[in-house]
Amino acid sequence: MIKIEISLAVCLYLVFSVIGFLIIWLLIDSKKGVKKIHPEEKFVWQCSICTFFYIDSQNDELSICPRCGSYNRKSA
Ligand SMILES: [Zn+2]
Repeated sequence: MIKIEISLAVCLYLVFSVIGFLIIWLLIDSKKGVKKIHPEEKFVWQCSICTFFYIDSQNDELSICPRCGSYNRKSA
């Protein structure tokens, strides 16, 4: 068996656990980065009837909800 000091053992344990957490964090963060979409906020509409979020880049003032078909006015 390899003999090492207790302080060295604790130090190695801490270093490896921190490296492990960093790798897990980076993996989770890179997965999130792929899924992220950045639609322009002015194209994002929320239906006032069914609270459904959708994107409509063609209309500025009035938009029709694709889910329930009601008209929505852009609130400034
Ligand atoms: Zn709706």
